[in-house]
Amino acid sequence: MAKPKRAERREKDRATAKLAKDLERLWKLGPGGAPERPIVITSPSEVETQARSTRCPICQGELKVEEHVAETRGSARLRVARVVCVICRAPRSIYFQLRATTLN
Ligand SMILES: [Zn+2]
Repeated sequence: MAKPKRAERREKDRATAKLAKDLERLWKLGPGGAPERPIVITSPSEVETQARSTRCPICQGELKVEEHVAETRGSARLRVARVVCVICRAPRSIYFQLRATTLN
């Protein structure tokens, strides 16, 4: 006996939502996913280049940079790219840290 279509679809939607959540969580554990794990860059211009070459962890869509801001967390000066996926519209932030050239 096949399950009613609607229940089947609901089950699938739930599974998809859970998968998206897992992928997002995993992505946040990677480089740039959190303020504690910034991607090290040498020039602020790399922020947009890197952000644009990053893909949406959920749908592999391109990310559009909506905003590029400077943030200070404790003693760390961070650059944050606020991006949104062009396909699934999921917003996220990618964190960068500018390597101080004087410290090398
Ligand atoms: Zn996406």
